[in-house]
Amino acid sequence: MGKTISCSDAGKDCDWSASAASEEELMSLVTEHVLSEHKEIELNSESISHIKSLIKEK
Ligand SMILES: [Zn+2]
Repeated sequence: MGKTISCSDAGKDCDWSASAASEEELMSLVTEHVLSEHKEIELNSESISHIKSLIKEK
């Protein structure tokens, strides 16, 4: 059991996706990706809770 997320689910024209064992681990991968590839996205409590709503179980 793990967590997965993909940028296309967030409506981004981006084929990046990631999976990890825990939400914390996945969010650190997401943060790294957003900071390097989606500089237009401001990471704040609102965007982070939106990102978390896109996380799926796999
Ligand atoms: Zn992306």
